Amino acid sequence: MVKRMSLQKNKGNLIIISGPSGVGKGTVCRALLEKYDDLVLSTSATTRKARSGEKEGREYFFYTREKFLELIKKKAFLEWAKVFDNYYGTPLVYVQKILQQGQDCLLEIDVQGALQVKAKWPTGVFIFLVPPSHEELVRRITSRGTENEAEVQKRLKQAEVEIGHLQEYDYVVVNDFVEEAVEKLRAIIVAERCRTIRLEWSERKLFLNKERRF
Ligand code: 5GP
Repeated sequence: MVKRMSLQKNKGNLIIISGPSGVGKGTVCRALLEKYDDLVLSTSATTRKARSGEKEGREYFFYTREKFLELIKKKAFLEWAKVFDNYYGTPLVYVQKILQQGQDCLLEIDVQGALQVKAKWPTGVFIFLVPPSHEELVRRITSRGTENEAEVQKRLKQAEVEIGHLQEYDYVVVNDFVEEAVEKLRAIIVAERCRTIRLEWSERKLFLNKERRF
C-alpha cells in the first residue's frame, strides 16, 4: 500500500508541473521564478549528459547510472522515471527541506513521475501545460534543432501518451504566450494557498480569536 504523507502546519505546497516535451515548461517555470521569488524549484538528478551551458547542481545533479540506481535502492527519490533512455528523479530530502521551511516547492517532471507523486502526496497541486495546437508543438520541437527526425517523432508520440493523462491533473494551462501562462500559474499557486483544506483544526480556531489580525 502507498504511504500517504499528511499535511502539516507551516508547510509549503508541492506544485507539480508536467507537459509534453517542447511545450515550454522550462521557459515558463524560469519566467515564473524570475518574477515571483516565493517558491523554489527543486533540482532533479539525471543520468543524461549535461548540455552546453548547464551546470552541476543548477539545472540538474548529473549522476552516473550506477549512482542513480544506488539512490533508487536507498529510496532517496520522491519519484523517479526513465525518460527518453535516461533516468530522472526528485531527491526527497531536498523537497522536504523546502516544504518544512514553509516555502512552496515546484517540481518540473514528466507524467510518470507526477503520477507517483500524486499517490504519495495527494495534497500536491498538479498542473499540466499544453501547447496551443498540435502544429505549434511540432514547430517548437523541430525549431530547437537539437533532435533529429526520429527523435522528433518519438517526442510527438510521447506527447500523445502524456496528454492522455490530462484528466489526472488538477489544472490545465495553455502555453500560448509565456507571460499569460506565468500569470495563470501564479493565480493557481496563490489560490491554492487560500484553500481551507490546507488549514489544520488548530489554525481554524485562530480565526475566532478576537485579538488576532490576519
Ligand atoms: P530534459 O532532459 O529535456 O531536461 O528533460 C526531459 C524530461 O524529463 C522533461 O519532460 C522533464 O520534465 C523530465 N524531468 C526532469 N526532471 C525530472 C524528474 O526529476 N523526474 C521526472 N519524472 N521527470 C523529470
